[in-house]
Amino acid sequence: MFMRELNIKAIVRQNVKKLKPYVAKEIPCRIKLDANESPFALKISDIIDEISIPLNRYPDPEAKDLRKAISKRIKVNFENIMIGNGSDELIYYLMLTFGGPVLYPVPTFSMYGIIAQSVGVETLESKLDECFDLVEEDFFNILKTKKPKLIFLSTPNNPTGNTFSSHKILKIIELAREKNCLIVIDEAYGPFCSEKGYLPLLNDFENLILLRTLSKIGLAGLRIGYLIGNSDILSEIKKVKLPYNVDAVSQYVATYALQNFYSRIKKFIREVITERENLLKKLSSFKNITVYPSEANFILFKSTKSKEIYQKLLKSGILIRDMSSTIKNSLRVTVGTKEENEEFIKALKNILDEKK
Ligand code: PMP
Repeated sequence: MFMRELNIKAIVRQNVKKLKPYVAKEIPCRIKLDANESPFALKISDIIDEISIPLNRYPDPEAKDLRKAISKRIKVNFENIMIGNGSDELIYYLMLTFGGPVLYPVPTFSMYGIIAQSVGVETLESKLDECFDLVEEDFFNILKTKKPKLIFLSTPNNPTGNTFSSHKILKIIELAREKNCLIVIDEAYGPFCSEKGYLPLLNDFENLILLRTLSKIGLAGLRIGYLIGNSDILSEIKKVKLPYNVDAVSQYVATYALQNFYSRIKKFIREVITERENLLKKLSSFKNITVYPSEANFILFKSTKSKEIYQKLLKSGILIRDMSSTIKNSLRVTVGTKEENEEFIKALKNILDEKK
């Protein structure tokens, strides 16, 4: 590298200078329970025999077929749906379009903060209470005094796993509307949740936006997320959307999967929920760890030996997520297949037994 003449640090934007890249480290392992993916291996050929799309042409910039397939599934007009290269991209577009301040509770999905910083918008954080629920008064105060333009609520929340109280969310949506603030409810983990979600409220609150993704239900490799909102909001976001943000293969496979493969996807979701309940029960039986309730496809738990547990699990080939930099002594495990979960529990038991 010949960089002697170039002073990169002098030209990089201040907010980017302070940023650290998002770490999606590839750590070799046998059992991968760190990224909230579906554990059920799915190849394109499991879904579809042949993909006949012309690769010399750009993909449909509006992803019409995919939006129609989603529209049919969730019974929302396709005009109210926008597709992103993962919901990450849509979070980025929202901040590019509306700017800040951006308000979100902490701890939550780290990309809200990272994207805000890279776009250069101010962030406002509200601490969750001891049950990881929203602190209503705090949101009210911030809404009244700091005038945020966007609020992000992930419910079920990553990494805590719980849903936020719906009566609190409702009051926040109402006050946000009064204050001309948009509220984004991120339902990435909605498919695993026993509550209905916020789609029924879309007609009542024009400041409400929903975010969803196919990543958690078996299709993370396709990078398909979608946003649902009123058409005035969508027309503004369209101005910043890159024209060909979703590739043709992903559009085609996702459309086909939603039309012809959805019963299998639903079956996978049911299996994950059953396994989550088993895992919750087993984890709760260990004396020296604290387990938090989950409505998602992962479970947060705490142990004073979290670092050691993480390392020893990894040594036996099982990768989970060390969350201790966000929540003291905490670890997050994604629900795997029955066999994977059994191995995880067995390995964890051995580690905890050793300690006695
Ligand atoms: N929202 C939440 C709450 C998430 O946890 C994730 C993935 N970790 C995403 C959005 C992003 O999902 P994707 O970009 O894969 O659609």
